Amino acid sequence: FPIVNVLNVPFINATQQAFLDAVEHRIDTRQTTFVVTANPEIVMYARQHPSYQTLLENADYVTPDGIGIIKGAEILKTPLPERITGYDTMLALLAWGNQRQRSVYFVGAKQEVITDLKRVVANRYPHLKVLGARNGYFDDFAPIADDIAQQQPDMVFLAIGFPKQEELIAAYQHLNHGLWMGVGGSFDVLSG
Ligand code: UDP
Repeated sequence: FPIVNVLNVPFINATQQAFLDAVEHRIDTRQTTFVVTANPEIVMYARQHPSYQTLLENADYVTPDGIGIIKGAEILKTPLPERITGYDTMLALLAWGNQRQRSVYFVGAKQEVITDLKRVVANRYPHLKVLGARNGYFDDFAPIADDIAQQQPDMVFLAIGFPKQEELIAAYQHLNHGLWMGVGGSFDVLSG
């Protein structure tokens, strides 16, 4: 996609549907794919933290998560078509994965949220293969990354909040030939 820079963060200039099509194609062709849905808080954080800025520059897709980014792009006279949020993207990909019998791995949120999430997902997306569902209160991500590397899920959703979720993805993404996306508080929303 063409890129629109907002305060040096490279956002994709794409509709939500075109973005989903591209991500689904990359999952189908087993390409490691790192998506960051960046809100204004993330953009401001990247200005203060060069390593996070580099991480955004190296992600496969950075999407505008929030009306503030859309407004900013408009003011800069390089408009973006619409918001692409982490929560909406996750729901769209779970529905797609359910139709195609794809596999998913969830990491993040509190144990009771994960327990509820497993039930909600099994009900709503019965054909989705849930290869792992772990809470986000671990000391060491390495054993979880080993399990992901072993199982090769089509999609990994990490819901432990920014910047840590993106930092872990940047460090471990090479271990799985699939989608990695940080989704913040999305498990709390979907499970409740
Ligand atoms: N969380 C977690 N492990 C931690 C800290 C937080 O799994 O060590 C979870 C928390 O339970 C919540 C999510 O991360 O589900 C953070 O959501 P928030 O909306 O604050 O994310 P942000 O908008 O900061 O990315």
